[in-house]
Amino acid sequence: ESSSSMHDLDASQLTVTLTQNPREVPGLNSAEVWSVKACTDHMVTVKWTDDYGWHAPKIVPYGPLEIMPTASCLHYATQCFEGMKVYRGYDGKLRLFRPDKNCSRLVSSATRVALPPFNPLELEKLLKALMRLDGPRWLPKTQPENFLYLRPAMIGNGEQLGVVSPSEVLLFIIAVPWPDLSTGWSPSATAKPPGLKLLASKNDIRAWPGGFGYAKVGANYGPAFVAQMEGRKQGYDQILWLFGPDFQVTEAGASNFFVVWKTKEGKLQLVTAPLEGKIILDGVTRRSVLELARERFIESSEYLTADIKSLDVVERTYTMDELVEAEKKGRLIEAFVSGTAYFITPVKTVNFRDEDLNIPMACEDTGHYAGVLKQWLLDIKYGKVDHEWGVVV
Ligand code: PMP
Repeated sequence: ESSSSMHDLDASQLTVTLTQNPREVPGLNSAEVWSVKACTDHMVTVKWTDDYGWHAPKIVPYGPLEIMPTASCLHYATQCFEGMKVYRGYDGKLRLFRPDKNCSRLVSSATRVALPPFNPLELEKLLKALMRLDGPRWLPKTQPENFLYLRPAMIGNGEQLGVVSPSEVLLFIIAVPWPDLSTGWSPSATAKPPGLKLLASKNDIRAWPGGFGYAKVGANYGPAFVAQMEGRKQGYDQILWLFGPDFQVTEAGASNFFVVWKTKEGKLQLVTAPLEGKIILDGVTRRSVLELARERFIESSEYLTADIKSLDVVERTYTMDELVEAEKKGRLIEAFVSGTAYFITPVKTVNFRDEDLNIPMACEDTGHYAGVLKQWLLDIKYGKVDHEWGVVV
């Protein structure tokens, strides 16, 4: 059957079944928030079947999904997901940050693992519908500058165990209070000094050309937990994923990685790994950092420090040797990670071949450029400034 006769995802078909048992909303930064289990009252579910396409979406009380033991995702990793947040602004409004980017990235991830595409604008409508319902109680207007984490996901489902693409799929959206990882604070630990410590990967390879590193599929994450646990045991926060015999720097944990350095010729550069090669995730925060930096760190900008005339924004392959050399020659200015969960967090250490490389920070808690970029993004997310990236729910 041709895909044109199939039903596309259609948010106007949404039906809502309200919960009879509202869940307890955990306190700000409480242990329950750090447990990341306290999902909100409702969830979105949408079924897809190969003989019909996308069925009518539903909002239902949060609870277990019904899947058969044969479900494709349980055997063949036909699974993908998104990570985004909804923000309660200073003005009392709820905003999504560039939700179109997350929705279209879910389509791109889905098609990589043979799951069906859909109109991403319809997913955005479903996200808004869920947040209009659960936002008021879970993100009270009296607590601006707070957020929920949204997790749209798709799984191959169905009754057929055959080693083929699934004939049934489930798309769902859940929402959960999530700790603010950019502050370094946690209820169990004493306050950690600012700056992430990264451990460069040794034998593990996260992604490779022709693979699926660019897709947000679970198969990129589960296999990374071993290295992550080992890093934590050694006192590091995240793995910095390297690639190839020349140790190309790619991304860090579930975030992209940026360096600010001076070139041998004395030019100031903001550098990050390129999307070409498809081994890193096209991060929404990464994209936004690049766009804002290109737009605002311009010739003689007030945001540049006194001795600097301009900053070049560069997406290119670079290696650990370049990073080490820049540090040894005093050309390294700062480094940071970017992502929905870690937001913009400065990096203070990279361990490579059992040696700690110390990365400067302009002041005690951040590098200068990371600090400026973070503030620009905060102002958009929480509605301090009007910007097309802040989409009101
Ligand atoms: N890289 C990886 C591997 C990730 O999982 C994430 C989190 N989605 C990121 C980078 C950052 O992407 P974003 O800014 O869209 O959250």
